[in-house]
Amino acid sequence: MNLTSLTITQTHQGLLKKKFSALELAKAYLRRIEKEDKKICSFLTVFKQSALSQAKITDDLILQNRKIPLLAGIPCAIKDNILVKGKRCTAGSKILENYTASYDATSIEFLKAQGAVILGKTNLDEFGHGSSCENSAFIKTRNPHDLSKVPGGSSGGSAAAVAADLCCCALGSDTGGSIRLPASFCGVVGLKPTYGAVSRYGLIAMASSLDQIGPLAKNAEDAKIVFQAISGKDPFDSTSVELDKKIHPVKCRFAAISRTAKLFNRVKIGIPKEYFVKGMNPKVEKIVRNAIKKYEEMGMKIEEISLPHTEYALAAYYLIMASEVSANLARYDGIRFGSSKTNSGINPFGKLRVDGERSRTIKNLLDVYLQTRGEGFGEEVRRRIMLGTYTLSAGYYEAYYLRAQKIRTLIKQDFDKAFQKIDVILTPASPVPAFGLGEKTTDPLAMYLSDIFMVAANLAGLPALSMPCGKIGKLPVGLQIIGKPFNEETILETGKILEN
Ligand code: GLN
Repeated sequence: MNLTSLTITQTHQGLLKKKFSALELAKAYLRRIEKEDKKICSFLTVFKQSALSQAKITDDLILQNRKIPLLAGIPCAIKDNILVKGKRCTAGSKILENYTASYDATSIEFLKAQGAVILGKTNLDEFGHGSSCENSAFIKTRNPHDLSKVPGGSSGGSAAAVAADLCCCALGSDTGGSIRLPASFCGVVGLKPTYGAVSRYGLIAMASSLDQIGPLAKNAEDAKIVFQAISGKDPFDSTSVELDKKIHPVKCRFAAISRTAKLFNRVKIGIPKEYFVKGMNPKVEKIVRNAIKKYEEMGMKIEEISLPHTEYALAAYYLIMASEVSANLARYDGIRFGSSKTNSGINPFGKLRVDGERSRTIKNLLDVYLQTRGEGFGEEVRRRIMLGTYTLSAGYYEAYYLRAQKIRTLIKQDFDKAFQKIDVILTPASPVPAFGLGEKTTDPLAMYLSDIFMVAANLAGLPALSMPCGKIGKLPVGLQIIGKPFNEETILETGKILEN
């Protein structure tokens, strides 16, 4: 049996039936990482010892015939901007190269509570800034379907690891598409939950009003299992929400409906005309339209809708996101956080960034800041900090940040209106399949355009899923399914229909 190709459900069954042990499973994944990840480069750090010890704990429980949770012994990978206690967490940045997390993110606590086996931390664009995974300070991850292509970003390491069977499932984060875009490029399922569904505590903040942690998985059911494990109210994140059926009565409605095939005709699907743009790859359009047709053939009602402010979404996102980035990244100053050879941090000046020769040029505090940030941050991060500082400064605030916020409201209202008459929205995940390594690195605007179908869901705080729906040659194409707030179940069930 090929252990590394199993889904969560299959792996769980295998463990229960004692077809293999959790230790064998963890070893199989670790071996595969050692062999395959040399060419894919999805992991930044692998936790061999702790993974094996955790697997052993699951085996002991099984031996004692104790009931184990669904994720017990399941090998997973974590994007390297989510804190795992006692482990290095770099956010893909030189500035955090030696930073060790002093606590677990809440989502990690939830995974650990179930006994999940954390195999290691995966590569990302520095602080999540990018759409190709090429902005990491450390390595460039490759697309497992074609090593000359990017895996998408910023959770490219997590998506590639799931696609290449280097883990059973993974966590990513999505501020402007960072779970869904790499999921679509790598042909896996990626879910960005509703804003507030999953705690952001322990996620290295990019743009706090947009950030969400979510799963990348081999199928929709697995994504659901991980989502259910990590979601819920957390006292450490005041924006998190209890996913109680009483508060969100609609949450489970569709699940019940979809189980009864003949009731399909009660679900209405909206296709926004603004998401089929000129210049998109015609093969992508054809594959996505085919997927939509399949839903229609199954008796679901399809309706064209309009989300009229879509064309302003990308501009609004890049203004709001950069503004928040400039505030969130101010803490990396070489005093509180910043690169250092050691991370003991007893003497705050032990944390100063620049060593040896150059440290002599530091005469005052400003020099510390300038050198630490100048050398610790990569080009794209510096670009966003400068842009965000500009859009928040007196005299420009009203013209840029405030206007972008007003557009954000209009975009949210577009969705509110559409969702009065439909249940889910289907769009392409990206106008193009995975592009070549290096193809867009010199043109930031071309890179930003990759997010064109992604960012509206973040601005409106809605749950959105990318599902594989076909291929162009070797390269996967993703279908995006957007739902009403806290209707994760609905979009996941819609995704499952396509899978079947
Ligand atoms: N491509 C988006 C950006 O560069 C992705 C952000 C994210 O979701 N982390 O801003």
